[in-house]
Amino acid sequence: MQIKKATEAVSSGVPTAVQLEAINTQAKAQLTAEQVYVFSLRLCDDQVDRDNERFDTMALPGLAKLFIGKTGIVDHCWRAENQVARIFEAQVVKENGVSFIKAWAYIRRGGSNDEIIADIEAGIKKEVSVGCAMGRCICSVCGSEYGSCGHLKGEAYDGEVCCAILQEPVDAYEFSFVAVPAQKEAGVLKAMGGRNRTLKELAEEFGAQVEYRALFKEAQLGRQYRKELEQDVIRLCKILDLGAEQDVLQGIAKTAAAEDLQKFRAALESKAAEVLPAMTQLGGNTQAKETIESGFMI
Ligand SMILES: [Zn+2]
Repeated sequence: MQIKKATEAVSSGVPTAVQLEAINTQAKAQLTAEQVYVFSLRLCDDQVDRDNERFDTMALPGLAKLFIGKTGIVDHCWRAENQVARIFEAQVVKENGVSFIKAWAYIRRGGSNDEIIADIEAGIKKEVSVGCAMGRCICSVCGSEYGSCGHLKGEAYDGEVCCAILQEPVDAYEFSFVAVPAQKEAGVLKAMGGRNRTLKELAEEFGAQVEYRALFKEAQLGRQYRKELEQDVIRLCKILDLGAEQDVLQGIAKTAAAEDLQKFRAALESKAAEVLPAMTQLGGNTQAKETIESGFMI
């Protein structure tokens, strides 16, 4: 899908012949221009939102396609009779450097739908919230998978505020008209789909970031401890001249359970104290400790 400039008027009301054709590829029954009401919606754009997330500009065309044929419901009610509108066209539009998905939807005129149409005309139901699933989320600072690098959304790094960039559209869901807008821009409810959600995402969703950060730090310390344990075992094996090669020792140390390594280290230490009393005077690590990975930035 090509990026288009928004030269078309945001038309609401009677569909054009081209629009009617597109509508009828979505509709079960052949509809006439008089039977439908057409309106356009701004779905998602590539700007950083209040969650410090943004859609990758490159992801918008694929996402736009996924929205075609999706239905619109009123106030998040999922009953079939509430599925009043349907998107029949969606395109990426660029305006003032901002790319966004513009969608056109139709509503069948008549019955309770006329009330919704009247509300849209009056601006009461102008707000829409849409949902979609994205396969990938990367860090804007370093380009790593978001959550794997330690950069945090909304925090500044060398003057650059980190945000999560959503890529690889997986699915688009129904949209809903929200009578009372929850936010200034049309709400975009994003859900990561196509893969399992990370603990970090869950923590953010449920307001457990503080706990998550504490756990993250503890995990870092745990990994650091584990590394030192491995180094101690290797060092002691070499001191005791057990004959194994460095890479063999490293392989064993890497795969052994931490509890076993602790016991092994204790055994090696007491052995070393027996045969090489002077060596134990050195205590702890003689090697330079590896510094905590540079990604540790919480
Ligand atoms: Zn990062």
